[in-house]
Amino acid sequence: MSKIRVLADHVANQIAAGEVVERPASVAKELVENSIDAGATRITIEIEAGGRRLLKISDDGEGMVRDDAVLAFERHATSKIRVSEDLAAIGTLGFRGEALASIASVAKVELTTSTEGAASATRVTIDGGRMRDVKDAAHPRGTTIAVRDLFFNVPARRKFLRSEATETFHLTNLVTHYALAHPEIAFTFVNNGREVVRAAPAKDLRERAYQIFGADFLENLLEVNGGHGEVARVTGFVSAPRDRRTSRDSQYLFVNRRFVRDRMIGRSLSEGYRSILPHGVYPAALLFIETPLDEVDVNVHPAKTEVRFRRQAAVADAVREAVKNALASAAYAPSPQEQRAMPAYVNMPYVPPPPPEPQTRIEYQYQPPSGDEIARDVAAMLEQKAFVPSAVPPVPSAEKFTREVEPEKLSSNIRPLGQLDESFIIATDEQGLLLIDQHVAHERVLFDKYRALEAARQTDSQQLLVPETFDLTPAQAAVFDNLVPELENYGFELMRLSGRTVAINATPADLPAGEARNMLAELLDTVDAEKKDSARETLRDEIAASLACHAAIKVNMPLGQEKMRWLIDRLLQTSSPTTCPHGRPVILRLTRRDILKGFHRI
Ligand code: ADP
Ligand code: MG
Repeated sequence: MSKIRVLADHVANQIAAGEVVERPASVAKELVENSIDAGATRITIEIEAGGRRLLKISDDGEGMVRDDAVLAFERHATSKIRVSEDLAAIGTLGFRGEALASIASVAKVELTTSTEGAASATRVTIDGGRMRDVKDAAHPRGTTIAVRDLFFNVPARRKFLRSEATETFHLTNLVTHYALAHPEIAFTFVNNGREVVRAAPAKDLRERAYQIFGADFLENLLEVNGGHGEVARVTGFVSAPRDRRTSRDSQYLFVNRRFVRDRMIGRSLSEGYRSILPHGVYPAALLFIETPLDEVDVNVHPAKTEVRFRRQAAVADAVREAVKNALASAAYAPSPQEQRAMPAYVNMPYVPPPPPEPQTRIEYQYQPPSGDEIARDVAAMLEQKAFVPSAVPPVPSAEKFTREVEPEKLSSNIRPLGQLDESFIIATDEQGLLLIDQHVAHERVLFDKYRALEAARQTDSQQLLVPETFDLTPAQAAVFDNLVPELENYGFELMRLSGRTVAINATPADLPAGEARNMLAELLDTVDAEKKDSARETLRDEIAASLACHAAIKVNMPLGQEKMRWLIDRLLQTSSPTTCPHGRPVILRLTRRDILKGFHRI
């Protein structure tokens, strides 16, 4: 007997739903994209219970006539492409014709829609892929689609949904993305009856970013305007180097106004900041990449969040250069032209000349050479490649001898000698030489202190004379309430004023008042919303680590003998003196034995 069957439509749709409908935010994504494709100028998103109970999207787009409203729920039903050649140049956000069919197969859906001047609107009701009803209704031009009880008929999928707060966070993030990509469209976002975002049509991205993120965020942004039309135009904003994030969460990337998660773009963006931002620190960015439609394939991922560029490397170059230029014009880095103009020796390591020996000192009258003379000399030396066996022989590096210190090998007899670059303490112990990173050492001390206070439920806070206020972004607002009790255990006193404004009344001891705001913003941006219910301990560690990082002494800070002593003593009393709360080494060692070996004495 034959064993192969063609699957029934509703089964095929549920399978497709597995790829398209991952969570409430992916449903909202498809529906908002449909509204944008329908030419809407106003989109309202309402959610209840993190989008599981209700997701309702209304628009004033072109709407559908009755036949189309019914057909729209068929698999592979689309008005956006007709023939396979159309796939080569997709100008709409949707084109696969499977979103509505997939969503309707795993939820209870009610779609009401009307075209301009139609005698009446149409309402289509579908439950779990079964068409229940099609009838006349009242609705102005446009479409409202209500999706209730997501995954009501697929318990296995329902189990994978996260907490309401997590799903709301993802939805907020999504609305933020689309609102940024389409400043001309008015967006309203209502969560459990509370209006979280109301953005009137804006004239440009800057105005929209102001509506969503507030003035503070905008102040730190540099405008990006680069690339070229043939491969990729790159526009938008990136943050100034002083604004640092520890995750990529504040990077909003778009390709042809489609919100994407693209590693290559993220990497090129970071490359633009190379040598300006340290490793593991990320800029905030709103980057729009516009390419000719046939330069990009959007049909690589069912949820269309990944794209493939025909000329990947050229796009990467365009992004990197555009970001570099933006930083250069804000005087944060030499422009590429300036960099090219610099002679090669500026990139060579600087080795100071040996001091002249007293008995051989030559007296001479120093005449500084003129600019022309220097240029001529440099040209001549380059000609002879004189820099390559360069004048000063290289000093052997001790890199291969330095090692991380194991805690049990640490003695209590550490003597600080001084600082290197006002950032690293140079010290000795019985075994040789030690280098201590002063920032991470202090971080470790404070982390242990904060954790101990928190565990003992003893807060140690300082009241601010004048409470600091700041505005949360919608995404931050979504996690804020959840985080407040935890933050209060650490000594914060926070108050939600109207809307998304928050007041800081008190901060944990040791945390400079000026750092509190940055620390909170960073934490709200990076804290993993997924962890909120289960791993509270991890969350507490994250808060303590973030507090410690912001309160700790910085690099480039001169420390006197006493301060260095104090820091080393405290460090030795911590739970783990050799690693910082983020897992980086605190101390490097060069043993006496390795020093002797390095000098060929043994
Ligand atoms: P796709 O967007 O890939 O075409 P969908 O399943 O999302 O497929 O939608 C099917 C069709 O329904 C669309 O091609 C469009 O013609 C119509 N449609 C869906 N949503 C709307 C809307 N909000 N306004 C007008 N037409 C819509
Ligand atoms: Mg669609």
